Amino acid sequence: MQTILSKETQREFLERGFTRRSLGRIAAIISAGSALPFFNEPAMAQLSAVRDIPADAVKIDANENPLGPSKEAAEAIHAIVSKGGRYMYQETFAFTDVLSEQEGVKASYVRPFAGSSAPLHQAVLAFTSPQKAFVTCDPGYEAGERAAEFIGAKVVRVPLLKDKAYAHDVKGMLAQGQNAGLFYICNPNNPTGTLTPKEDIEWLVANKPAGSIVMIDEAYIHIAGAPMMSQLVAQDKDVIILRTFSKIYGMAGLRAGAAIARPDLLQKLSSYSSGALPITGMAAATASLKSKTLVPERRKIMGDNREDLHAFLDKHNFKYVPSTSNCIMIDVGSKGAEAVRTGLRNEKVYIGRVWKSWPTHVRVSIGTADEMAKFKTAFLKVMA
Ligand code: PLP
Repeated sequence: MQTILSKETQREFLERGFTRRSLGRIAAIISAGSALPFFNEPAMAQLSAVRDIPADAVKIDANENPLGPSKEAAEAIHAIVSKGGRYMYQETFAFTDVLSEQEGVKASYVRPFAGSSAPLHQAVLAFTSPQKAFVTCDPGYEAGERAAEFIGAKVVRVPLLKDKAYAHDVKGMLAQGQNAGLFYICNPNNPTGTLTPKEDIEWLVANKPAGSIVMIDEAYIHIAGAPMMSQLVAQDKDVIILRTFSKIYGMAGLRAGAAIARPDLLQKLSSYSSGALPITGMAAATASLKSKTLVPERRKIMGDNREDLHAFLDKHNFKYVPSTSNCIMIDVGSKGAEAVRTGLRNEKVYIGRVWKSWPTHVRVSIGTADEMAKFKTAFLKVMA
């Protein structure tokens, strides 16, 4: 494995404080990228353990979008399939042009990827080390911290602020992150669906130690309708924004995404990736971006189903963290989160995983109205 790293790259990693033993794992991440078996949402949903999931099960475990790709995206895919014998880099360029225009940055500030897992992992490789920590919130999306741990980089976890609607504790992250290589802000956060105010993110960017990078993962931002932070990139700050088409755009299995950052930062990420992107994903992403109705319509549908779940939980006096996204953390108290998950699975309802730091909470993704009705019935039965 190690041989895929050139001598020069190996030396660079050793100088950054990695041990020779970590080099094999670094090589593994570079060669496998987002295909590594344990660093993405479905893998963490432990789907490998439930291969025999029944066809009629309610699957609300991986923050997917049951609406799937939009009509425009599906048409774009059908139109391009027969041209799949060609690389067609122009599809990637077209995607870059449309996205950069919408984000208010130059095209050179956008790097397309097949989803956002790859740039997330590559940022960990590029900017963290045994001396330069990966600083994240707790509970948070684990892909970055797992990648950091896997290669031997340091991880710092800072609890969300309970008294501030579970926003990231940016002051705490800075206080504990004086040696940070990467501050990871997930906004809205996975698994809590809670938002961190724009001003707090701007404060962190303005006050962080020189040389560290703030990576803002906005996977769920369209669902929340909160401000996107690409203007920080346009201002040439040390910021990387992650975009994915896996959430509101319903393209998790089709794969499209991007990193938005200054070209010198993108250059550091792309040292760890190669290859053409699937033209189906690129064409569908471009068509999705061009639709004027997709985001507002889906935000409304997903928001209505989420608010309906909030109302149900209120009505039955369950405790939960109010969410702005497509997942909700529900407190199941003394029933125990794992027991509730198993109980629901017996009812053919598959919900999300449990975070070690919040052992009484389960994460439930928002499905269709019909799926949520089945979830409610099963949840009342299991909690009775
Ligand atoms: N970031 C967050 C916060 C996520 O929840 C996910 C997946 O659920 C990802 C990134 C990666 O998704 P993808 O690689 O499909 O873009």
